[in-house]
Amino acid sequence: MTTPLLPYGRQTIEDDDIAAVAETLRGDFLTTGPTVEAFERAFAETVGARHAVACANGTAALHLAMLALDVQPGEAVIAPTITFLATANCARYVGAEVVFADVDPDTGLMSAQTLSDALQRLDGRRLRAVLPVHLRGDAVELPALAELAQAAGGVLVEDAPHALGTTMRFGNLSEQVGDVHHSAMATFSFHPVKTIATGEGGMVTTNDDRLAQRLRTLRTHGMVRPEGCEPWWYEMPEPGFNYRLPDVLCALGLSQLKKLPRFAARRRALAAAYREVLAPLAPLVRIAAQPAWSDPVLHLMCVLIDFEAAGRTRLQVVEALRERGVGTQVHYIPVHRQPYYRERYGELDLAGAEAWYARCLSLPLYPGMADEDVGRVAAALQEVLGL
Ligand SMILES: *Cc1c(COP(=O)(O)O)cnc(C)c1O
Repeated sequence: MTTPLLPYGRQTIEDDDIAAVAETLRGDFLTTGPTVEAFERAFAETVGARHAVACANGTAALHLAMLALDVQPGEAVIAPTITFLATANCARYVGAEVVFADVDPDTGLMSAQTLSDALQRLDGRRLRAVLPVHLRGDAVELPALAELAQAAGGVLVEDAPHALGTTMRFGNLSEQVGDVHHSAMATFSFHPVKTIATGEGGMVTTNDDRLAQRLRTLRTHGMVRPEGCEPWWYEMPEPGFNYRLPDVLCALGLSQLKKLPRFAARRRALAAAYREVLAPLAPLVRIAAQPAWSDPVLHLMCVLIDFEAAGRTRLQVVEALRERGVGTQVHYIPVHRQPYYRERYGELDLAGAEAWYARCLSLPLYPGMADEDVGRVAAALQEVLGL
């Protein structure tokens, strides 16, 4: 018998999730109905934001954020290079230029230092937005980043798909990722590996009424209905997109959101179990460092492995783990190394990102894992590294 493979992440869909979707399928609205608003309201309340705007996916959320801010061609948007492609690509969708920030080699996060360095490389361009990523689920230092961004004339847009449920403490203030106290907007994704899943799905949160209005308009073709107009009338001041999230998926999102406390508790418990079983594997294997202000609901269990000292390549470790039923992933290949960005901006020397990329590996982490699975992963890793 072969051991079943533990993926690095996966969704948890239960009978009541399926029932919620089925009920919507039997109803009047497959899309543009009342479940969209219900999901948005519940989400806004959950993260403590004034507005939440649902959209097609996390990439659409980022694109809408750039459009809502009216970022113009040739302006600068700063993104960390350790992230998914979409964080940088959204700037290009509106013609802006990406300035890649380095990351701290031990947390993988954009820091005040790496943002300051990136601000030195604007090349005379007007800064519009800084897009920090709460990589793995650990929060970036929002107040410090917001201060730097504002001083340079830009705003923060948090790319937060990894950090639904994460809380932070800055000074005496307890805050939550998505409450947008320090940023203009935060974006989320409900891709199956993220903390709650709708298959495809995204959300933007904001406390700014005007931005919320723009996000809603741009999500539906840029159409507005002036007050007092005929029932068929609409106007389009500027073209938008069809980036709507259908009621069918909002029903799934609403059902999943109710489980966030349970999913979060499970992720926290699994992370604590990993800390215990991986401790003996130090210093060859270390869990990515947790910043002092961050109390994360981890999306990814990123470990940093000294492959050179272990005398094994990452590929050898990945393959040997797979043979033992342990799936892994690398988060992420530095985006500035992609052929498109290399061609556009040339070679960049981002040493923190290279040090992170050389060592990182994401181990399985999702609510459906059994307690024994964590021990199984650690034992496999120990064996594969010859420890
Ligand atoms: C998942 C993810 C996205 C994109 O979300 P999609 O819903 O897949 O479009 C963007 N940024 C980060 C950091 C992500 O993890």
